[in-house]
Order: sequence, then structure tokens, then C-alpha cells
Amino acid sequence: MIDEAEGWEPLCTRCSRRPAVYLRRHSGEKLCLGCLYRSIAKEIKRAFSSVRTTGPGLKVGVLVSENLALESLLLLKLLNDIEKSYSGLALAVVCGEISDSYLAVVRRYSRDVVPCPGLGSVELACVKLPKDLEGLRLDLLAVPVTLDDLLGCFLRNLVYGYEVRGVHTHIELQHLKVFAPLYRVPRVDLVAYAFLAELLDEVSYGKTVSPPDTIDKLISTISIKHPELLFRFLYGTFLGEGKVLRPKTLRYVC
Ligand SMILES: [Zn+2]
Repeated sequence: MIDEAEGWEPLCTRCSRRPAVYLRRHSGEKLCLGCLYRSIAKEIKRAFSSVRTTGPGLKVGVLVSENLALESLLLLKLLNDIEKSYSGLALAVVCGEISDSYLAVVRRYSRDVVPCPGLGSVELACVKLPKDLEGLRLDLLAVPVTLDDLLGCFLRNLVYGYEVRGVHTHIELQHLKVFAPLYRVPRVDLVAYAFLAELLDEVSYGKTVSPPDTIDKLISTISIKHPELLFRFLYGTFLGEGKVLRPKTLRYVC
């Protein structure tokens, strides 16, 4: 990142040592690649604390999806990096049919792939969860949704369901804790990391999804032009770490 007006490379505002390569618009920070990575990893560790499940040797499943290909693959990578230092590991959980080509990419990020029989009706942040969670033999199950997806889920419930349902960032189902480790991470940060780490081509793999609807376009505009609004939604709507939506706030939003 070059400051054209000044003609010099600004330093990272976190470490003050390496050249900044990313301007994080919602905070105004200028980050080097290492600090961008560590800031995302820090939010993931914070999400572990919110479900009160930490410690050595954890087996964490990531519910991979072709519709959330970039998020699934990067979450697998980041969780594996984090868990390795605690003697744990992250595994891909695959429900139903996925293409062979996507499976091949998933295997690059996950030593093993855990199949599940199918998806049930319970959702976390508008993502359907597997029917048989106990059969997966995991300590935790991670859903690869970002802060953008939380806002998208909230708006979809409101616009298409004509009701406001709780948008949870973690639940306990069939004795297994399911959480969304990236719920405080805007999607643009993940994309920037993938691009700067030269992973974007690989993790952008995905089947052709349906064309974006009005809500997709709205979230995309907010994410690019006004990313600070994502955080206003997060802090204005949630009571705190991993809590459900506050009815009083919802009436105001409506
Ligand atoms: Zn730095």
C-alpha cells in the first residue's frame, strides 16, 4: 500500500515495524499481513472463550459448504493453525453430496473429512445443521459464517419470514456446542487476507450459486462502502458475546 500523496510506504499501525498492506476501513487501521492474520485469529480465540470450551487436544469440526467455500476453507486453515499449538485439530464435516473437485480442495485443508448423514431443520445464523451431531464425535462444531452473514440472516428473517427470530452465534444441540468462530470478522477481512496470502484463487472455488438477491446486494454495499455499519449492527443488536437479539432493539429497527 503506497501513500501516493506522500510517496512513502506507511508502516503497520499495530506493530509499527512492517509496511502496511491493508487499510481496514471500519477501524482506519493500516495493517501488515501478519497483523491482519493475528487479528482474525484473535477473534476466533475470543469465540472459543464465549462457548467456554478451551484446552488442549480439542477436535473441532467445520461444517464446510460450497456456498461458503472461501469462509469454510479459511476457517479450516485458521482453526488448524490455532489448534496445532494446543495439540488439537480441525476437521471438515461434509453433509450430503459435494462435488469431487470441491472435496479435493477441502482435503488440502483438512487431514480427515467427516461425513454426516444429512442436514436437519435446526439452523445457526441461517445455516442448517447436521441431523446427528452426537454421531460426529467432535468436541465442537464450527459454522463458517462471518459478521456479514449474521446481518444477512437477520434481514432475511425480517424480510422473507416477516418475523424477527433470534440470530445466535452459538447453541448447544444434542450435547454438542455449535458456534460461529468468525462472527466478529467482516467478510472483507477474510477476502483481503486470502488475497494477500495468495490463497484467493484456491479458496474462491465454489459452485455457481444463484444470482445475488436484494439482501445480498445490500450486504455487499454495506461491507464495501460502510463496513462500520456491520459493527453497529453487532454492538447495537447483541447484548454481548454470543447473546441473542434484544427484542427492544428489534422493535426500534423494525
Ligand atoms: Zn503489523
